[in-house]
Amino acid sequence: MAVIHVLDKHTAELIAAGEVVERPSSVVKELVENSIDAGSTAIAVEITHGGVESISVTDNGSGIEAEYIATAFIRHATSKIAREEDLTAIGTLGFRGEALASIAAVARVDLLTRTADDEYACLYRQAGGQELSAAAAARSVGTTITVRDLFYNVPARMKFLKKDSSEGNYVADVVLKQALAHPEIAFRFVREGKEQFVTPGDGELKSAIYAALTRDFAKNLLPVDYRQGVLSAEGFVTAPIAGRGSRSMQFFYVNGRTVEDRTMMAALETAYKGLSMQGRFPGCVLNVKMPLEKVDVNVHPAKTEVRFANTAEVFDLVYKAVKSAVTRTDAPQKSLDLSGTAAATAEPLPQTAQLQMPAAAPSIIVPAAAAAAVRTAAPLSGGAPGLLRQDSAVPYETRRSRMLDIEKTPQEDAAAAPPAAEKSAQPLKSQSALQQEAAAAAPTAPLAEAPQPLAEAAAQPAPLVYVGEAFRTYIIAERGDELILIDKHAAHERILYEKLVAGYGKVAGQMLLAPVSVTLSAAEKNAVLADARLLCDAGLEIDDFGGASVLVRTVPANVPTESAARLVEEIAARLAAGIRDPRGAKTDWVLHSIACRAAIKGGDHDPAPTLLALAQQILDGVVPPFCPHGRPVLIHLTQKELEKQFGRRE
Ligand code: ADP
Ligand code: MG
Repeated sequence: MAVIHVLDKHTAELIAAGEVVERPSSVVKELVENSIDAGSTAIAVEITHGGVESISVTDNGSGIEAEYIATAFIRHATSKIAREEDLTAIGTLGFRGEALASIAAVARVDLLTRTADDEYACLYRQAGGQELSAAAAARSVGTTITVRDLFYNVPARMKFLKKDSSEGNYVADVVLKQALAHPEIAFRFVREGKEQFVTPGDGELKSAIYAALTRDFAKNLLPVDYRQGVLSAEGFVTAPIAGRGSRSMQFFYVNGRTVEDRTMMAALETAYKGLSMQGRFPGCVLNVKMPLEKVDVNVHPAKTEVRFANTAEVFDLVYKAVKSAVTRTDAPQKSLDLSGTAAATAEPLPQTAQLQMPAAAPSIIVPAAAAAAVRTAAPLSGGAPGLLRQDSAVPYETRRSRMLDIEKTPQEDAAAAPPAAEKSAQPLKSQSALQQEAAAAAPTAPLAEAPQPLAEAAAQPAPLVYVGEAFRTYIIAERGDELILIDKHAAHERILYEKLVAGYGKVAGQMLLAPVSVTLSAAEKNAVLADARLLCDAGLEIDDFGGASVLVRTVPANVPTESAARLVEEIAARLAAGIRDPRGAKTDWVLHSIACRAAIKGGDHDPAPTLLALAQQILDGVVPPFCPHGRPVLIHLTQKELEKQFGRRE
């Protein structure tokens, strides 16, 4: 029979310490958090041998009164909370009272501290959880904790440490995150004798970012400042142009606490869908502030995770905050960088090469309204504002924020442009006749509401002239001195997607005369029925039809009836695969799928007025000039570029 006994105090202590102290970076995190909680305005962190040999954290905070020092090292001893109720509203980073005890259990710790009321400082020493000495010493108000020989008494733990440089990187990451969370505190980080960064502590997040991160990252940031009820989100996100190869530059905070949170990450990335290229990740430094009782921070011994009372609310906040930041400014800057300058600075080609077709990449045009929006935004360095056309004035910013707010007043009409009416070939028409028809073909609400008047100075744009269509895929149009090519499917898809977002939850689907039954796998069927509400809000009403089937009763406006089954199959497969995806993300790709199904396709035969109306809408800038997957919707060539290609101009 197995003997059951209570572990001795020392062993129990080591086990508990293991939860908090996994590696040098966990020690640094706890110590820096204590310094922040102590009201410090300057914190210095120094490590040697990746922090395994020594870590020292010096602050100018409150200090600890001599009589309480020993108590602070007892497990569950804390000055930050006192009773059960306090757990529901934790305003400090620490509250578990475990850090000092855990650290001292597995290392040698020296603590030198002095409060403003004390004349002397006190130097207190522990090793392996045993008190060694306490003596008077000297220092200014504040605390220095030095931790040496981490895991010297727990060889098993020691084995799991990586090489010093890797451990040092983890520490750097921790200090960086804290420095970004607290721009009001001056951080100094010294690694193996070399100063890594010093933040000014001037309260400006941008200064902290400049000091602690690369210039490259800092120069492509868009400010986020968004409030929704009692919640707010502030900080910076990277411009879509500055997408990165990984998520390493995503820094999330809740009430100033570093968190790793899937909801916030998903919301961030969903907000970039359609604005940046697939496979690129946005960067951010984002702090969400909310009433303390709306977030439980006591879910993880290392306090790196939190639980929100209302996850959907947080998703929604972050999504809208980021979306309004990236659309308010200039997703289109990306295209400018890609192209305009390249074309302008292209080297003259050698004689032979000149015979080949376009030497310079055609540039992607910026819809006038997006450019107008840029004028109101903070200037971005590195862009090419000279290339922005400021000739029209329909800021989609205003529309975007309205569209994103799915709580607002109903928009009756989700019908999209161009109407799927005539599909037959059109005889050639005069340009003015085409313009008139295009005007008629243009959709009404919500996208085509009266433009917001902008600066008087905004000149009328040159009229758009329809030239034709290539490969039944690209609309060719001319405006002023530009030749414009538009991917008709991508353009239509984007417009429909924006309408679906605007009408989400408010626009009923079109009833099918004969409901369509669709056969699905068990997992797919479960997933579809579980998310029936979400689909219904998107205009797709689906019921259980027994067995392996579901019955589709309505489809969103513009989705051809014959596409209903394919659409449901596609959505079901994705819902089943992404069963745990946050609701906002699901909604987003459900709307993408619908937009894709409903949009006109490359190869379709579409009448000229329809295509012209489509082109006009894109150029009016009511939607971002990228399809929901992030591909550009239009490119342009100037007359000058063409003349150069044909040797008419030097
Ligand atoms: P917690 O932070 O969860 O309260 P810790 O074990 O980290 O627990 O710290 C115990 C106590 O020691 C804290 O509550 C605080 O009163 C005190 N303390 C620790 N570090 C500092 C510091 N740098 N400055 C002032 N007081 C500190
Ligand atoms: Mg603490």
